[in-house]
Amino acid sequence: MDERFEGSFTQQEPISEEAIAAAVAVMRSGRLHRYNVAPGEVAEVALLEEEFARATGARFCLAVASGGYAMSCALRALGVGPGDAVLSNGFTLAPVPGAIASVGAHPVLVETTEALTIDLDDLAARIEATGARVLLLSHMRGHVCDMDRLMALCDAAGVSVVEDCAHTMGARYRGVPSGRHGRVGCYSTQTYKHINSGEGGLIVSDDAEVIARAVVLSGSYMFYARHSAAPPPEAFADVRLEMPNCSGRMDNLRAAILRPQVPLLEARRQAWEARYRVIESGLAGVAGVQLVPRAAEEEFVGSSFQFLLPGWPGEAVRAMVAHCAARGVELKWFGAPEPVGFTSSYRSWRYAGLQDLPRTDALLAGLIDLRLPLTFDLEDCARIARIIAGGVAATLPGLDAAPPPGDMRAAE
Ligand SMILES: *Cc1c(COP(=O)(O)O)cnc(C)c1O
Repeated sequence: MDERFEGSFTQQEPISEEAIAAAVAVMRSGRLHRYNVAPGEVAEVALLEEEFARATGARFCLAVASGGYAMSCALRALGVGPGDAVLSNGFTLAPVPGAIASVGAHPVLVETTEALTIDLDDLAARIEATGARVLLLSHMRGHVCDMDRLMALCDAAGVSVVEDCAHTMGARYRGVPSGRHGRVGCYSTQTYKHINSGEGGLIVSDDAEVIARAVVLSGSYMFYARHSAAPPPEAFADVRLEMPNCSGRMDNLRAAILRPQVPLLEARRQAWEARYRVIESGLAGVAGVQLVPRAAEEEFVGSSFQFLLPGWPGEAVRAMVAHCAARGVELKWFGAPEPVGFTSSYRSWRYAGLQDLPRTDALLAGLIDLRLPLTFDLEDCARIARIIAGGVAATLPGLDAAPPPGDMRAAE
């Protein structure tokens, strides 16, 4: 009895009728540009910024064109420039080192733990070795490190933290919304993230100077007074003349689609966690599979699922992925020699300079990733887990060979 799965791993939920009606109203008005307002009108983008600031408890918010733009704009607003070193995760996706490269800086990549989070001992060593003053922290695939320890370490070393919350919008750590531990939080509203406007990004901060700079950088011309979630006009006295205009604004159409989605974030988080837990329990105890631990402090958004096949040779991983693909379950392998789709390894970022992260390499070699769109129900998730467990059983290699370096479990 060979089960098959028929769902699409890239099919998100439709945009709600409420959001469609709001988008149509913007189109009927003709005022799609955020600074094109009728007398007394507050633009949809400014309203979105107010609402997202409230949802995260931030003093200020700026909406921009993409998550990648949000990160590069935040780095530039912090004064990062050509030749600077910026710390970041060795395990993340291409827009993160790309944001660092876009301001002429270079990424200093940090090792990864078996919880798929940044290695804090290695971070401390690299802060010491490079003197870098900014960390672009990627909460990659929703896995969050010990944020208390990370902030204590960075505060003590004078390192500003920019959080990449592309995979943690709506998540909390010890009750604090993701993006609110560091100096700046950046989010993406791209289709595959947690609220969907096709493309888009958000920046939050309590730092008036940083947000004033980001507003002008994002292309405000001299319309900064139309930002109701930004500091008052006085904060712009010098900034407006000092910062270049690097256009990357959000438009009213996208904001109109996003506003009705912000209040849904917590319900979506719970729906995602329920799906995640079904896959997790379906794979618990399967020989050859190592699950990724989740800290009790996190309320996470399980919009994707990862597991490790520690010590598996590449051919066996490839056979497992092929077994599942033939049954309709689309898995991504971070250890593939060539970058495919959205999955890539730091070794494909040649512009970042060659860096060696042996522990990250050992993890990526056995790291499998799958998306969990909310169009899947719990029964779909149970079926997916059964197919993966079957794939593992059918291809499980004899693991008596020497374990790869850095892998503890395979040695047991
Ligand atoms: C998607 C993503 C971003 C932002 O991406 P955009 O496509 O520019 O909105 C940033 N970091 C990670 C880890 C991502 O997956």
